[in-house]
Amino acid sequence: MGSKAIVSDIHGNLPALEAVLDDARANGVSDVWCLGDVVGYGAQPIECLERLLDAEAVIIMGNHEQAVLDEPYGFNPLAAAAIRWTRARLEANGNHLNVLRELPRRHDDDSAILVHGSPNHPVEEYLFREETLDHLPRNRDFSPKLAQCFRKVDRPCFIGHTHVPGAINLDMTWTAPEDVNGDYDTESNPDGRCIVNVGSVGQPRDGDTRASYALFDGRTVHWRRVRYDVEAAAQSIFETPELPDPLGQRLIEGW
Ligand code: ZN
Repeated sequence: MGSKAIVSDIHGNLPALEAVLDDARANGVSDVWCLGDVVGYGAQPIECLERLLDAEAVIIMGNHEQAVLDEPYGFNPLAAAAIRWTRARLEANGNHLNVLRELPRRHDDDSAILVHGSPNHPVEEYLFREETLDHLPRNRDFSPKLAQCFRKVDRPCFIGHTHVPGAINLDMTWTAPEDVNGDYDTESNPDGRCIVNVGSVGQPRDGDTRASYALFDGRTVHWRRVRYDVEAAAQSIFETPELPDPLGQRLIEGW
């Protein structure tokens, strides 16, 4: 296969998405897989969606798309406010709600499985670093969650949703990008079975304000961090009265 740029959790942040797509192109990659949450939080949801449609990206349903179509169940008040504004914008602009409605919850490619949250519950479930074996007391898995996930994974599986990049190995340990200089060999796992989080383009939550995504050549994952105009993205949130200011502030602080 040709290499793919795998992006997730863009959250209406157009400057970050543009910077990531430019970085991918500079690395010779124009095919895009998007793991969902194109919208929500940020000020340019339609522009981000159109940019990905123009790139003919495979786009998976995220929980923020689900919330726009349905209701923001379980969302905190700031996130829910952004969902209501996003829905109003999409309703006023043609066919975009129908585009969201058609998004698949899982995509199976020969080389990888794509979901937003987890193989178990593709749209909703979080898989946190803290749930991996090397982060648990006495290295013991107290829930069957990861084992259940791996029963549904027979090749590399890509996820987003937590906004923190890293890989869950088949032995249920965690590999952070900095552990491997950003390059992760999926075949270090039997049959390449691993669950790889590409991080978030538009709202990184690991203290690093740069956009996160990954390049994938069918075997090796290259996590990338890309500088973009954080101030511009925050400013466009500050200038949108319906979007709470902390949603802009958090971009500047990286959480
Ligand atoms: Zn998200």
